[in-house]
Amino acid sequence: MADVVKGSVMEMERFAIHDGPGIRTTVFIQGCPLRCPWCANPESQQIKPQLMYNVKKCLKCGTCARNCPQHAITIVGDHLEFDRSKCIGCKTCERNCPGKAINFIGDIKTVDEVIDYISRDKDYYDVSGGGITVSGGEPFVQFDFFYNILQRAKELGISTAVETTGDTDWEKMKKAEPLIDKFLFDMKQSTPEKIKEITGGNGWRIQENLRKLAEIAAEKIVIRVPVIPGYNYEEEVLTAIIEMAASLNIPEVNLLPYHNLGENKYEQLGRDYALKGTKMMSKADLKHYEALGDKLGLKVQAGG
Ligand code: SF4
Ligand code: SF4
Repeated sequence: MADVVKGSVMEMERFAIHDGPGIRTTVFIQGCPLRCPWCANPESQQIKPQLMYNVKKCLKCGTCARNCPQHAITIVGDHLEFDRSKCIGCKTCERNCPGKAINFIGDIKTVDEVIDYISRDKDYYDVSGGGITVSGGEPFVQFDFFYNILQRAKELGISTAVETTGDTDWEKMKKAEPLIDKFLFDMKQSTPEKIKEITGGNGWRIQENLRKLAEIAAEKIVIRVPVIPGYNYEEEVLTAIIEMAASLNIPEVNLLPYHNLGENKYEQLGRDYALKGTKMMSKADLKHYEALGDKLGLKVQAGG
């Protein structure tokens, strides 16, 4: 019998409308090579399951601390502290918590389980021009799992999109390209050096992959720029990214205004949020770039 391909999944979200055309199911895969300070899904950055602790739901009963085989949990004042370096991910604390204050993100699923889940909405995809979007984290990190999902979806006649950082081996991207109808390709800065400095990602590889992909499938690409005050919200940066897209014959750029919806997740993961206090942006802040798109012959959209 062939090996069953499995992968670690953060979440599967039905009826998504911002991750590509039409009505979609978005499959969020765990693991990412980048560490963007504004990441709205920090629980997806590592492949291994992530322990989230919601202090607001915690009853301070101590059940978790008493039963943790690693003695990784301590009650300190009005909250718990977790020694995550000791945690072995046994989930005893999650199973026994009466307040449902502990939650592990990241479930191992087979390709069959993912396909069963996404197939149930095929009628909606068909009438709306939608399909599935594989997002993350970075889908290419768990390549076999990702590739098998794409293959099976295509066999079922389901349209596919991928949201990618672009930080992967070109050979993988080239292999998967025929199975992908839409690439939502993130570009966080205009130069490789700045991408590296801000996100830790390989900016040279990201931009090289974008160029190579544009040579074979420019029409499938939408460049997405999360616009973040203090990191890339500068006229010359956004203009350079739009000009880069135009020079590669990429038909669309989405400028995504900064939001802080992921902020409370950092607290639950026991991490600091680097953008604390940063003001949220609106589409109106970015609307004027649409005229630059008209001038250069591509669609620039404030919002995604
Ligand atoms: S078992 Fe749950 S409710 Fe009780 S202290 Fe632990 S996290 Fe809080
Ligand atoms: S998952 Fe297991 S080892 Fe980790 S904190 Fe919970 S009970 Fe302790």
